[in-house]
Amino acid sequence: MEVKITKCIPERLKRPPDTMSGVIFGTQFTDHMFCMEWEDGIGWHQAEIKPYAPIMIEPSAMVLHYAQMSFEGLKAYHTDSGENVLFRPRENFKRMNRTSIRMCMPEIEIEEVLAALKKLLYLDSKWIPKEKGTSLYIRPAMIATEEAIGLKVSSKYLFFIILSPVGAYYSQGFNPVKIMVSDKYVRAVPGGVGNAKTGGNYAACTLAEKEAKEKGYTQVLWLDAVERSFIEEVGAMNIFFVIDGKIVTPQLTGSILPGITRMSVLELGKLWGLEVEERRISINEVLRGIENGSVSEVFGSGTAAVITPVGILSYKEEEYNIGDGHTGPMAIRFYEQLTGIQYGKEPDNFDWVELIT
Ligand SMILES: *Cc1c(COP(=O)(O)O)cnc(C)c1O
Repeated sequence: MEVKITKCIPERLKRPPDTMSGVIFGTQFTDHMFCMEWEDGIGWHQAEIKPYAPIMIEPSAMVLHYAQMSFEGLKAYHTDSGENVLFRPRENFKRMNRTSIRMCMPEIEIEEVLAALKKLLYLDSKWIPKEKGTSLYIRPAMIATEEAIGLKVSSKYLFFIILSPVGAYYSQGFNPVKIMVSDKYVRAVPGGVGNAKTGGNYAACTLAEKEAKEKGYTQVLWLDAVERSFIEEVGAMNIFFVIDGKIVTPQLTGSILPGITRMSVLELGKLWGLEVEERRISINEVLRGIENGSVSEVFGSGTAAVITPVGILSYKEEEYNIGDGHTGPMAIRFYEQLTGIQYGKEPDNFDWVELIT
């Protein structure tokens, strides 16, 4: 794939933030972006790295009406030794292809897109922040652009990658959050698109999240849509429980997003010789376990925060306090190890880290 490079003119180059403290997640973008287009009968074409700018689509573009789209989220990190790296980027593009298949969209050529992403990152490398715990968030997305409001599969798509510098997630300390278990709404149904990273899933969750925030909870924990009994995941995180010393997470049933951080936690847990289980876990098992002490920790996993300790679960208006209110040792261990690998403080025995050159 031929990637045309059109650099931003020097007068238009923006200044990366002097410090990342106070920068709100996902609100600032770098100087350049990557775009390519797809059309029935032609395939991918017009691959270009160009100045970050608005994209032109018609109001009739299909994505705006029927939400045919896929997206991803990953990060570039500046390591202690001064290198810029990615964490398991092929897994993100593989997952994006799985999402695209589910949404009847074309797949991308992973190695070619990864090479283009590296070029983009190299060009905008001064935007990869260096302060502790900071990173450059990478957002690949694909949208249906055919100008037609008849309901069908689009014949045209735009794929793009934009970059946004992000501050340290735990600038206030690695402290547990309060989460509300939703018994009123569901996120994804069997046979639906819960395991796809596609926009509609998140729009469908916003009302429950708004109601949870009004009650003082940061996020919603979703139960299965059929029995409203088995734990699925949190808004943009998978969920783990430490039960009698074992690491337990819901099995991937098709309505849960298969997180790359989740996969990494499972692989690390096995490497450490811990017992790890992927199985069905009912909310009653968890609540009883919190009460009798067998559930000693609850934590979320996702690219944004890596590990998020959970201190309180609320279910049917009742609050359940996990452990002693402090972040547990397992959450700390996974957090330290994963961020250690990402920032080059720990050896990368799994070959998870990809150098940007
Ligand atoms: C992205 C996402 C996750 C976490 O996936 P990672 O690959 O670990 O970042 C979990 N749940 C949902 C719903 C998500 O969108």
